[in-house]
Amino acid sequence: MTQTHCELCSATSAVATYEVSQTAQTSFPNTAMLCSTCREQIEDAASLKANHWHCLNESIWSENPAVKVLAWRTLKLLSSESWAQDLLDQLYMEDDLLAWAKSGERTAESSKNSGDASGDITKDSNGTALVDGDAVSLIKDLEVKGAGFTAKRGTVVKKITLTSDTGLVEGKVNGTTIVLKTMFLKKVV
Ligand SMILES: [Zn+2]
Repeated sequence: MTQTHCELCSATSAVATYEVSQTAQTSFPNTAMLCSTCREQIEDAASLKANHWHCLNESIWSENPAVKVLAWRTLKLLSSESWAQDLLDQLYMEDDLLAWAKSGERTAESSKNSGDASGDITKDSNGTALVDGDAVSLIKDLEVKGAGFTAKRGTVVKKITLTSDTGLVEGKVNGTTIVLKTMFLKKVV
């Protein structure tokens, strides 16, 4: 190996080993070489820049399971983009690899006693559990389709209601009840 490159975008600067959070059920190699750009955006969903991630059309074919898992999670966050959805459709993963990818979606701290039921808990972008009545703030501008306005980053939404989907909550913005993706929310404490 002469030069180390980022396994997601092939950049060669500031490349370091990144450890993908493991679950008890998986035993895949869980490290990937990532550049600082990829690493920062993976660690902070709010800084995710869709343009950077077109590189995934090559890296989803990686032999490294950790790279596939990172690609899958990133594409999930970008799945409102049609090209990202297309790549997700192409990204074939075996069941146990897919389970790993899903299990680690936005769980920053594994130290919490979440147990096996963690998949049923609604969490914000930092992995903090959300319950009915919580207040959250938006971590990015959200276009509210159908209502014709954009909910600005930083907007506080009070008294949210959980839904049957742990990735979605309901809340009132501008007097309109809308469905919000939890990946774009941060709990206000
Ligand atoms: Zn990179």
